[in-house]
Amino acid sequence: MSLNSPWRSDFPALSALEAEGQTYLDSAATSQKPQAVLDALLGYYASGAANVHRAQHLPGERATRAFEGTRTRAAQWLNAASPAEILFTRGTTEAINLLAYGLEHLFQAGDEIAISALEHHANLLPWQQLALRRQLKLVVLPLDDRGLIDLEQARRLIGPRTRLLAVSQLSNVLGRWQPLTELLPLARSQGAITVVDGAQGAVHGRHDVQAMGCDFYAFSSHKLYGPDGVGVLYGRSEALARLRHWQFGGEMVHTAAYQSADFHGAPLGFEAGTPAIASVIGLGAALDYLGNLDAAAIAGHEAALHAKLLAGLAARDGVRLLGAPELALASFSIEGVHNADLAHLLTEQGIAVRAGHHCAMPLMHRLGLQGAIRVSLGLYSDGNDLERFFGALDKALELLR
Ligand code: PLP
Repeated sequence: MSLNSPWRSDFPALSALEAEGQTYLDSAATSQKPQAVLDALLGYYASGAANVHRAQHLPGERATRAFEGTRTRAAQWLNAASPAEILFTRGTTEAINLLAYGLEHLFQAGDEIAISALEHHANLLPWQQLALRRQLKLVVLPLDDRGLIDLEQARRLIGPRTRLLAVSQLSNVLGRWQPLTELLPLARSQGAITVVDGAQGAVHGRHDVQAMGCDFYAFSSHKLYGPDGVGVLYGRSEALARLRHWQFGGEMVHTAAYQSADFHGAPLGFEAGTPAIASVIGLGAALDYLGNLDAAAIAGHEAALHAKLLAGLAARDGVRLLGAPELALASFSIEGVHNADLAHLLTEQGIAVRAGHHCAMPLMHRLGLQGAIRVSLGLYSDGNDLERFFGALDKALELLR
């Protein structure tokens, strides 16, 4: 298979970055945007910005229609039962914080929340802080050698005291799909609420939240070729009905008096204040863009690139690959080389990769590392990107060893 990306030319930033001598291999942190998304953002502002849900004038109606159009598209994208099950947030982080506050009233001292050892801080700290506020126990499900949540241990640790399970669908460090098909029913059978952090998973393939059987699923637009500042929180309608409101202000209220108020349910009751209107519209364009591409062709292209990435790393002495990544990314360290020094030399050669703890400090500690370098791919990445990366890596290692 050719390692050229047929979609690369849809992304103007790629040629702009290339002209600057930059090779972008950090798509798991954030993605570049296709022209269709840039057009949608500019189109909204250029045709007349207006607030949503409140104005009766033409620009207000137009903005509301476009904004709500994204909700419908996001519901279709995830196969939610209804657009009312889609809440717009600022991103995955805010979605999980919303849950940790909105569900707080359901917990009693001694209850347990289960997460896994590989969680991003966004799916660790909100639960850790909830546990501290309510005297709950945060149970950490261990991983096996491949970087998968260990199901045997999970069966032992998830029990009647487990009130909530929150896990990543795809690890941002280890690049493996987690065994949600087993974990979610296990948690559900104990009556636990299930939360899936889809920040990394959402962009790879299509995910059907009803088939997955989770209560909540969160992702960020900016990793899915959409604008930043917006994310989606899917909630099964019965699960949403249990959420308490967490932010208060305009547009989330039916009636307000000085001493009391009556709030909307989902979704508007959880979207207080003016939302990121342009970004939501841009997310709609990103979903349309992706929806019109051949998903199997994207998966094939990404798999071929990933195989090249893994083979190139395996061919170099002293590379320690973290886990056994199956798609999208590879995190590694190199024996005898400090990752900050390596990152510095890669940066100097125009290689844009991520170095550090990847917002998963406890995982890094478990792996006995201070940090690692992560190379991550998008649908626009190509074989030349990887060749430039390996050329720069070899040069850096020559200098460092
Ligand atoms: N969860 C995972 C697995 C992530 O990789 C990230 C971002 O890198 C997040 C959550 C947080 O996403 P955001 O910063 O867009 O809120």
